[in-house]
Amino acid sequence: MTRGICLRRQLFFKGNYVCVEIEYSCVRYGINRTMFYGRVAKELNNVKYRKVPKNGDKLSILGYGTMRFPAKNGRIIEQKAIAQLRGAIDRGLNYIDTAYPYHAGASEVLIGKALKDGYREKVKIATKLPPWSVKKAEDMEMILNDQLNKLQVDCIDYYLLHALNDVNWKRLLEFGVFDFLEEQKKKGKIINIGFSFHGDKDTFKEIIDAYDWVFCMIQYNFLDENYQAGRGGLEYAYDKDIAVMVMEPLRGGTLANGIPEKIQAKYDKAQIKRSPAEWALRWIWNHKEVTLLLSGMTEDAHIDENLKIASEVEKDSMAKGELKTIDEVKKMYEDMKKVPCTSCRYCIPCPFGVDIPRCFELFNAKNTMRVSKAKKFYWFQLGGITSKKAYASLCRDCGVCVPKCPQNIDIPKELFMVSKEMEGFTMKIAVFGANIFFAFQRKLAIWRKRK
Ligand code: SF4
Ligand code: SF4
Repeated sequence: MTRGICLRRQLFFKGNYVCVEIEYSCVRYGINRTMFYGRVAKELNNVKYRKVPKNGDKLSILGYGTMRFPAKNGRIIEQKAIAQLRGAIDRGLNYIDTAYPYHAGASEVLIGKALKDGYREKVKIATKLPPWSVKKAEDMEMILNDQLNKLQVDCIDYYLLHALNDVNWKRLLEFGVFDFLEEQKKKGKIINIGFSFHGDKDTFKEIIDAYDWVFCMIQYNFLDENYQAGRGGLEYAYDKDIAVMVMEPLRGGTLANGIPEKIQAKYDKAQIKRSPAEWALRWIWNHKEVTLLLSGMTEDAHIDENLKIASEVEKDSMAKGELKTIDEVKKMYEDMKKVPCTSCRYCIPCPFGVDIPRCFELFNAKNTMRVSKAKKFYWFQLGGITSKKAYASLCRDCGVCVPKCPQNIDIPKELFMVSKEMEGFTMKIAVFGANIFFAFQRKLAIWRKRK
């Protein structure tokens, strides 16, 4: 099917008024409709690409994050999600990122369906090995095989170790993860090897230096410039010819929706008129070190806007004035934090295991920036689901951290506030439920293997 016909089909199925108009005009003026739609599709299909240094792949600078497919009552709306994904591919996007647990395991299945009819050949698929589901070395191959089945493919183009931090990293090393990866590469089930990251800067460098990675994925946006791997990590990976994919470019939507009034006023005063999302995305693409960014796009409008920006941006193209606007917005967000923690990490390690900066980070995200998912992230990342327990109520008020804080934060007192707001019985239920789910997912994979 040509791109033109496909575009026409998308417009038609959306019941788009424009399509009816075009159809009418084509008939009336005797225009070849296939040619017309083909032309329009070509005009739209000018997304920029950047090269992966170690393999030469040209990837679209916008990757499709599949954590946020359109869903109803917890189930993906298949027809809509497939149409959106294929529509984006028709317009030049060629990198799709998923993971074993996304949409409770249904994301990989959906992608398998969406990539039929010739779409598989047009894209690179990335998915991830969840360290928290690996209980013994053989589990790694079992999970990979399950992923290949769900995706209905023979190989995964970009395979990541999921959400590495010091704990997950050591866990996978104990299970001989590199032997597993090399073996699967030889078998042709994996092509390129990388990792996604949610730890601290030192762990990031340690991981980068431990293997000949083709790519890595880090959380990066203008508010997280110095958080986790941060700008230092981005440059470190780039200097080693490792492609860097960026996740959370809009910080879970915070930088796009529910913008505080005074920050919106700052954007409105800028000479160039852009949506907050566009400012945030352009800032990331301005970095020459970034290969692509992932956006989880639920609405057609998000896809349209992101593809449009991805067809315009260049590296190092933002003017001084534009960067100044971002700096000022960043400063305003910083000033609005409820706990003035700068994530300097001088206060850790805590002898009782509290991840103090992360507790404050997510607490601030929930209160100041209204990140709707901050509480869930807190449960997942600190509650003991994807990593070891590191939540605020583990604090025993020993006082060791207090004199180390350059911001003079009364850490135990603030942690008490955090625990009151972010934890409670709901967290216990969520952690319990998630652990049951991952155990079930593992059992399901064993059952599928036997079958
Ligand atoms: S006061 Fe609390 S957070 Fe600080 S080191 Fe002691 S137990 Fe850890
Ligand atoms: S030392 Fe203070 S500012 Fe730095 S991370 Fe700890 S609490 Fe935050």
